[in-house]
Amino acid sequence: MGAVVVILTACALFLGSGASYGKNHASDYEKWDTVGKRAADESLSLMSKKGKVPQKGKLVVLTNAGYAEVNGASTQGALDGLTCVTGATRGRHSLVEIHSAPWTPLWFAVYDKASGFCSYLQVDPSATKKQTDISAIPLSDLFYIRSLEKINADYLYGHATEFKEKLAKKVFGGNEFRIVSIANGIAEGAPAYAVRVLEFHDHFCPGVASGILMANYLKRHFKPEPGGRYFVHTVEPWCKEDAMLVLLNATPGKRGYAASYPTKADKSRLVPEARGAATIVYRRNNATKTWEGLVLAFEWPETTCPKTGNPVVDKLCADLWYLKRLEAPEDFVKLIKAFELPQGVSPKDWARPGVDPLRQLGLLQE
Ligand SMILES: [Zn+2]
Repeated sequence: MGAVVVILTACALFLGSGASYGKNHASDYEKWDTVGKRAADESLSLMSKKGKVPQKGKLVVLTNAGYAEVNGASTQGALDGLTCVTGATRGRHSLVEIHSAPWTPLWFAVYDKASGFCSYLQVDPSATKKQTDISAIPLSDLFYIRSLEKINADYLYGHATEFKEKLAKKVFGGNEFRIVSIANGIAEGAPAYAVRVLEFHDHFCPGVASGILMANYLKRHFKPEPGGRYFVHTVEPWCKEDAMLVLLNATPGKRGYAASYPTKADKSRLVPEARGAATIVYRRNNATKTWEGLVLAFEWPETTCPKTGNPVVDKLCADLWYLKRLEAPEDFVKLIKAFELPQGVSPKDWARPGVDPLRQLGLLQE
């Protein structure tokens, strides 16, 4: 018998009515653990009302619990409550922690891959402030949004116009795109490393897919030496940066990432062979004690996705198109120039205020 069975047994009471959540919660942990249980329990109940009994352990839970604060308190405990009831875990990347600012409303979504239904519950901070016994708060007060929508990709492709109206009504509290894109990405088999990126970026878009492809290109063609690291200098930032930060562990805080924000006029000064230059990546060569660099561009292909007139559905289709191609980065990432920095010069010297690495490389028309 595995641990999951034990956990589910402990949480079995929470499915259906008559659930008991305990009284006199002493800590934030217990309080938010209970909120997580109630959110999961209500999600399963909403799904069951549609005649589809969700299978525990096969559900994907998405939430900003742990990032969102409610009345100044950490909501981290909600993660354990959600796991307890749904069986979703980090190890199976079925418990998905979506990055958000602390002042963002706390929300939970439970996606059932089998039926395509996804619940959404958003916490009312005023309800939890007044009442210390979380189990005594009526569901309608605790969650001021409680909705259930069918969001699997095939269904949305066939109901793009209808779903546009639901987007306008904010059925998922304005989090519709992030939930639809990440839930479907996971259902389609997004690898664990990509899910980490989607969590950090807080949505799945073609832009972040391009960053995953660029990181995969580097892993294959420009590995750092054992124990080595990258320095990344992006010369045209977009969503891809968040993928590179996560997958390469190159960050500005560790002095491994620089970004310049060019204007249209700046970009027009690139020499023709450097058009589209997006990112410069450096690695240290321990033998020569110099830094080697690549200037990379990303070539945007035409996907096979139809235009439905619903940008969320169209982007979802493009996301899933890229997802199938993550192992073919060479089809998208173009090498503009390979070079070596002079001895004694580091990438940081080329990222100083007033220094343009593209000029240093002779890639600007002067
Ligand atoms: Zn994005």
